[in-house]
Amino acid sequence: MFRKIFIAAVIFFMSASVAEAGVWQPELRVGILSGVKQVTLKVSAPCIMIDASTNKTITEIPADRSFVLNFSRLKSEATEIRPEKIPIKDLQTSIDGQNYFGGVRLNKGKDFLTVINLAPLEEYLRGVLPREMSPSYPLEALKAQAVAARSFALKNRGKHEAEGFDLCTSTHCQIFIGAKVSEITDKAIDDTHGEVLVYNNKLADTNFHADSGGMTESVVNVWGKDTPYLVAVKEIIQLSEPWTVKVTTKDFSSRFGEGFGEVKEIKLSKLTVGKEEDDRTPSGRVKFAQVVSSKKTLKLAGNELRRKFSLPSTLFDMKIDGKEIIFAGYGRGHGVGMAQKGAKFYAEDGWSYEKILEHYYSGTKLKKLY
Ligand SMILES: [Zn+2]
Repeated sequence: MFRKIFIAAVIFFMSASVAEAGVWQPELRVGILSGVKQVTLKVSAPCIMIDASTNKTITEIPADRSFVLNFSRLKSEATEIRPEKIPIKDLQTSIDGQNYFGGVRLNKGKDFLTVINLAPLEEYLRGVLPREMSPSYPLEALKAQAVAARSFALKNRGKHEAEGFDLCTSTHCQIFIGAKVSEITDKAIDDTHGEVLVYNNKLADTNFHADSGGMTESVVNVWGKDTPYLVAVKEIIQLSEPWTVKVTTKDFSSRFGEGFGEVKEIKLSKLTVGKEEDDRTPSGRVKFAQVVSSKKTLKLAGNELRRKFSLPSTLFDMKIDGKEIIFAGYGRGHGVGMAQKGAKFYAEDGWSYEKILEHYYSGTKLKKLY
């Protein structure tokens, strides 16, 4: 056990950015491009190009001059470009015209290059926050989002290890748009510098979503794995805007293949937020609905219905109304962990970011990691 922790600690520190007194922070490898034959780069300060496997300098790179790196010309399996004299957090690298904080790594695959941004965690967050939460939200909500995004990034580090990096730039991990300067979200990141959520002293997996619809959902009901701090919590302020999605019975039926026939009846208990039924979770989300057609009866999971008909959430009622199927519900997103809209309302009501996080991630503690 101790050996495991020790090895984990060594790996964690080895992959940190150059240790500068007082400014140490983890460094993330964010996959920017893959499957490319070449890439155009430009750095904001003098850099060195290093063979990442031997750590030997290949060449020096001057500032502010574009250059092209080509798959067939690159000799090393992995090449890194890092600043010569300044901390990596102060470097900006342009990758095919798009700016990123930090340096760059190029992995040579069989036929193509993978281009990776070497981003110090706090600088990575500057490219995440403005897209994951509206900068118009109150500062305490943005601070809660900063802690959640930081914890999520560290907890999910290495999610793309098979492709040679930590995190991608889409909602699959967290949306990342590179070097973005936004005063209010940058302040939320600085004010919570190095702070993460832990449970039993281990990093927490801090999922978040747009709007709970009145009650969040236990993770076990969404992805099947129980986590003690990702459990359903009732909102104290009722805040959700209802939504409606309509589908013609003809379109609805056609989504289940030719052998389905025509939809005749839908069996699903009525929605009350926070009320469990046989076919609903304790928050009221749809576990399953029975759809009866002229030829068969299908038992469909709430998540499946959500996917099939692009529903905002699984917190819904469903009925046949003439030639239409009407889905009417609350909330947006999977419902697990912090609801961003809820965080906004609580912050407007005077809650601190610590209190917001405590509400959504039951039993976790805030810890300053660096
Ligand atoms: Zn990803």
